[in-house]
Amino acid sequence: MAGKKKIPLVWKIAIGFVAGILAGVAFGEKISVIAPVGTIFISLLQMLVVPLVFSSLVVGTASIGDPLSLGRVGIKTLVLYLVTTAIAIAIGLTLGNIINPGAGMGLGADLSAFQIPTPPKIGQVIIDLFPKNPVASMAQANMLQIIVFALFLGMAAIFAGEKGKPLINVMDSLAETMYKLTGMVMQVAPYGVFALIATTVAKYGISVMAPFGKVIFAVYLGCFLHAAIVYSGLLTIWAHFSPLRFFKGVQEASIMAFVTRSSGATLPVNMRVTQENLGVSEKIASFVLPLGATINMDGTALYQGVCALFVAQAFGIELSIGAQLGILLTATLASIGTAGVPGAGLIMLTLVLTQAGLPVEGVGLLAGIDAVLDMARTSINITGDAAVAVVVAKTEGELRDVTKTA
Ligand code: ASP
Repeated sequence: MAGKKKIPLVWKIAIGFVAGILAGVAFGEKISVIAPVGTIFISLLQMLVVPLVFSSLVVGTASIGDPLSLGRVGIKTLVLYLVTTAIAIAIGLTLGNIINPGAGMGLGADLSAFQIPTPPKIGQVIIDLFPKNPVASMAQANMLQIIVFALFLGMAAIFAGEKGKPLINVMDSLAETMYKLTGMVMQVAPYGVFALIATTVAKYGISVMAPFGKVIFAVYLGCFLHAAIVYSGLLTIWAHFSPLRFFKGVQEASIMAFVTRSSGATLPVNMRVTQENLGVSEKIASFVLPLGATINMDGTALYQGVCALFVAQAFGIELSIGAQLGILLTATLASIGTAGVPGAGLIMLTLVLTQAGLPVEGVGLLAGIDAVLDMARTSINITGDAAVAVVVAKTEGELRDVTKTA
């Protein structure tokens, strides 16, 4: 054997993951002393998001060039996002009907400690798309507003002709530097993953999760099916892309989403692996992925489908087919409005329950195990964005063959 072979990063992350589970089980709550390591790692990832999304989206928009093809890419992306989300909810509802996660739930659970959040209004979500002050949007890491501003700016830079070019060059340089920085931050990922997973395992022991076994099973099974059937089908049919190669290429981002429970924090990693391992061009990745991390939440949508049925069953309420179709609609909208941060899906579940006439108190039942459900749904949220990016890239002739270098 010649020389020392470097262990690939994804292996190191996997080792951190498994070691974290073992440490969480072995040391229990005592492991919380290492919690700051996980917190710092998430902060480092979040540090990348605003400059990376902003700069790469300005460059992406400018390089797509004419508003016509920008519109075509935009429509394709939105349609794929909407359709996959609706299918995810349908899978969630179907599993909710088959598995009956809420049947026989003792409602003795203590709901009093849970503060019920006010569900956001759908109309307000649209108004809030438009930034009053782009600097404030960035300071608050308001992704949708940053996306809208970056799209406008990228287009305006093109219309500005020669004068707009230096701006695009600066943004290009910033984006490249941010990708480099993402690579640097990822070097500490194995330690961050170790700390995050160890503290989560220690906090959510089997005893906490046992009464919710069926709902956890339904959400995890649904996420697995959605990836295995919907993404594999999408990639095979429309992109002639091997699903195995896809899941292998995207795994770093999927694991990162699982442990950070944040689409936003995982976005820089997803942008890197989608380009480097899957061959999506920068212009497609920089447009499709930030949009997806913000509005495309298949895992969250699926979870909302399962949970709506869980709550109905737990409270002994019969849901008609019509009511379930209503849930399909509101959960699609709710998942679009869900922020890519940990636990946001639980808050948006209040919207779905309210619209369906179900008791909002049900959210309190689920709050105790939300982190466990959030891991699976965030992982699917991010994986779904990458799958759509590959399909859009393929249909736009923007997919490089990386098999020779991967
Ligand atoms: N944590 C999820 C995400 O960042 C959102 C959710 O809570 O469903 O994608």
